[in-house]
Amino acid sequence: MSLSNNQKPTPHVALLPSSGMGHLTPFLRFAGSLAEQNVRVTIITTHPTISLAESQALSHFFSTFPQINPNQLHLLPINDASVNSEDPFYLKYEAIRRSSHFLTPLLSSFSPPLSALVTDMSLASTVIPVTKSLSLPNYILFTSSAKMLTLFVSSHTIIGSKLPNDSDETEEFIRIPGMPPIPKSWIPPPLLSNKPNLLKTHIIENGKMLIQSDGILINTFQNIEHESLAALNDGKVVNGLPKVTPIGPFAPCDFERNKSIAWLDDQPVGSVLYVSFGSRTAMSKEQIRELGDGLVRSGISFLWVVKEKKVDREDELELGEVFGDGFLERVKGKGLVVKNWVRQEEVMEHKAIGGFLSHCGWNSLTEAVWHGVPVLAWPQHGDQKMNAFVVERIGLGMWVEDWGWGGGERVVRSGKIGEKVREMMGNELLREQAGKVKEEARRAVGDGGSSKKGLIELIEIWNKFIP
Ligand code: UDP
Repeated sequence: MSLSNNQKPTPHVALLPSSGMGHLTPFLRFAGSLAEQNVRVTIITTHPTISLAESQALSHFFSTFPQINPNQLHLLPINDASVNSEDPFYLKYEAIRRSSHFLTPLLSSFSPPLSALVTDMSLASTVIPVTKSLSLPNYILFTSSAKMLTLFVSSHTIIGSKLPNDSDETEEFIRIPGMPPIPKSWIPPPLLSNKPNLLKTHIIENGKMLIQSDGILINTFQNIEHESLAALNDGKVVNGLPKVTPIGPFAPCDFERNKSIAWLDDQPVGSVLYVSFGSRTAMSKEQIRELGDGLVRSGISFLWVVKEKKVDREDELELGEVFGDGFLERVKGKGLVVKNWVRQEEVMEHKAIGGFLSHCGWNSLTEAVWHGVPVLAWPQHGDQKMNAFVVERIGLGMWVEDWGWGGGERVVRSGKIGEKVREMMGNELLREQAGKVKEEARRAVGDGGSSKKGLIELIEIWNKFIP
């Protein structure tokens, strides 16, 4: 057991995120909120994950939460040379799966002993057998929406057996509890494919395994996803699913800010469109050029993060190469183009930002919710169409479904992009609604709020597990 200032014993909890910033970031934020409640936190991860994170952000993290000592960050040893693979799927799942035999000795070695392990959903089938063998309570932190969780936990029934053949065009909709029938086109394509593929296998395996966890935590809140949360907890999705507790949206932390974008300070309040497609999404050069022209044609000021390769950070892309001569000249004065990465939190909280053209990664959306920034949704892959659906449903923004999956075969032309950007940025109702959602989010995590209550209840349960 660990002792807090008032000498009450507190639980010691280990967190095991999956790779990639989209997973590491919510785990670090969660670690921060646990530390603020005097829970002792240990973080377990891998070298590939840490090398994707900005080392500066990590050191800020430890200085923001002095309760979490850097010695409480444990890296799973990975000896396999192929772990340098650039395949994000490999990094995400296989790196940890292959090092899972290191978990048993590690988890049993902590002092004070652990009260629980919180794992990313994508690691459930690897980690739950280990925690069962140690009789260690295992919780899942799901880093996407409750809608996506519903799809994942029911995927072996919805997708596994009943899915029509790829060629079957009669079934255009899928019924998932807690939401209206949704078009098949919103489901990540590998899940719909009848051909065996790693993503589908992982999602089905991990979805089935969740039943054996002790609880599922999720980075969402009641007001924006109450139907899906109710369906999950009423046993309508899967019988015997452990309690699903919404504890979000995770508030951004100081460690993510360093106030570097002076350009924004010179822009009028609410005038700038922030354009970013997350940490991993790449677009074709043709689409990037159309997007650039569309932004210029919109007449709206923009801050645009351009990324070409499917990695978190890289320095090879030459913007001149992508845009051709003259583009950057045309852009000057109308917008700022930044290569590969900005500190998004710092951008989103800036008063000059009036809208967000987003790929709809769940973290990006919860950040837009947190700051009350209206969204123009342009999903690119994975869970993002389902997330765009949430954006529309809660009135946070607009989704042009016709644009399809970005980065796909179809190129969306600059005229359409410019038109929708203007429409979104000029929509006062959206701004108002985004402001309301922001207030609801802050109420949910504030004292007495639904997510804060969920967190406190969870810690009370962990208190009972203090060995
Ligand atoms: N992010 C950032 N700067 C960038 C791109 C992304 O700080 O230039 C952060 C963003 O704030 C979010 C995370 O990286 O917290 C991306 O997660 P998300 O779920 O939105 O998308 P993913 O990268 O997983 O597709």
